[in-house]
Amino acid sequence: MTFIDLRSDTVTRPTAAMRRAMADAEVGDDVYGEDPTVNLLEERAAAICGKEAALFVPTGTMGNTIGIKVHTEHGQEVICESRAHILNYELSMMAWFAGCVARAVVAEDGVLSWASIREQIRPLGPHAAPTGLIEVENTHNMAGGTVYPLDTLREIGEESHKLGLPVHMDGARVFNAAAALGVPVTEVVAPVDTVMFCLSKALGAPAGSMLVGPRRLIDKGRLYRKRLGGGMRQAGVLAAAGLIGLSEMAARLGEDHENACFLASGLAGIPGVSVERTPATNILFFDVSGTGHTGASFSAALKERGVLINAASGVARLRLLTHFDVDRSACERALGVVREVAAMGVRGTYV
Ligand SMILES: *Cc1c(COP(=O)(O)O)cnc(C)c1O
Repeated sequence: MTFIDLRSDTVTRPTAAMRRAMADAEVGDDVYGEDPTVNLLEERAAAICGKEAALFVPTGTMGNTIGIKVHTEHGQEVICESRAHILNYELSMMAWFAGCVARAVVAEDGVLSWASIREQIRPLGPHAAPTGLIEVENTHNMAGGTVYPLDTLREIGEESHKLGLPVHMDGARVFNAAAALGVPVTEVVAPVDTVMFCLSKALGAPAGSMLVGPRRLIDKGRLYRKRLGGGMRQAGVLAAAGLIGLSEMAARLGEDHENACFLASGLAGIPGVSVERTPATNILFFDVSGTGHTGASFSAALKERGVLINAASGVARLRLLTHFDVDRSACERALGVVREVAAMGVRGTYV
């Protein structure tokens, strides 16, 4: 069975253009700084973000880990949103590698305000761990692909910097944020010091992420990448796909967002199914408690019918992501399958 795979945008496979570029890539030993394709990707990523330098890393997790490490010292706090990827899905790397603890702030839509951050900032003193870094996730994965308004980001950047605090953006999907705002990614990342973004998600590359920021920090980061086992030699074969992701895939993300809205309105019309929020980008959470299913049983029933959507935390929640490998007609078919499963009820009989 060929599945309609809505579990994540990480499932995208390299496009034909990527595979050609990978086959033809000029390569060298990147640990010596001699891979021309990696060097080009790093230059291009820095330019697109309007920053001095960039570092190609195998995963977003490594990019965030290094990003946190270059800004902080052991024993500091990192302020982040309560459902942040760095706090919940990166095996505590901020503690394990950087020796920092998270100071989590709850924001219903995943978007921190400066006021909520300000309340949590701790100065150096005899009791509390001092704040070392502010972290923002844009788009916010677990809040449903929500996007920071530019004014909010600018205020966080300016006010943090006044207090001498750096800001790191987990921009795994920052190109989705830029597409949703209709501005170049340069503007989205201008207020922050460093940003990590994934080539391996909606941009379609098979692997790789970028950490982008001031040269001084990226040079430091290069050493941490080696320590973490991320020195990748002829990585130009991967970087070649990343370059295509930047030049060809970033511009089409609006389509994924339209498909997510299409699915949201379709799902909202199915009895027993409710959509949590109209998606701003490519992530959508929905609830199926009205069908009598749990998230897990609903997901299993979809899978039997060729649609992959993962259950999310909570009793009857599911999370889907749209991406390049799922076009509008696949979305229509997926909706039909959800409608069928919802109508069947839990015992597999139509209600
Ligand atoms: C996917 C993701 C990452 C990094 O994930 P890797 O699987 O390590 O590449 C980081 N932050 C967010 C918000 C993500 O969605």
